[in-house]
Amino acid sequence: MLEQQLRNSGREEDIRKLRFTTAHECAHWVMGYFREVDEDRQCAPGLISLEQQQSGQLSREQQVDRCGACLLMPRFLMMRALHEVNGGKRIPIYGKCVLSSEGDRTVQRLANAMRVNYMPMRYRLEELGLYEPHPIEELIDALLDRMRRDRRS
Ligand SMILES: [Zn+2]
Repeated sequence: MLEQQLRNSGREEDIRKLRFTTAHECAHWVMGYFREVDEDRQCAPGLISLEQQQSGQLSREQQVDRCGACLLMPRFLMMRALHEVNGGKRIPIYGKCVLSSEGDRTVQRLANAMRVNYMPMRYRLEELGLYEPHPIEELIDALLDRMRRDRRS
């Protein structure tokens, strides 16, 4: 399956997906689960929220995904990338999961720096506590302010 993907696509997004899938398969080895996985069952790398992780309701495949994300985006490389891209500052997050457009661009730049897709980066940032929580009202107020200013000018 991996080979086929490699042969068929040179698209950056597919390459990043392939990197994630490869890390997932390596994680099977790392976690010693390789033999135990049902042969018929397709490995389906998915994404896991911190809530799911904390509730302890991870399926084996999700645990492997999490391990794969650690292999692909180890803490020390994440900290280095955050330093280069954002001066080491955590990214403001509003409410549960809303980013400002600036924060969104920062996440995209981090994803580019680590050569992963956007969503795995979002989850990994959450896992490592690299978001700085803010009330959602703060973002709404800032947006309303900007709209008022734009209307005046
Ligand atoms: Zn798997």
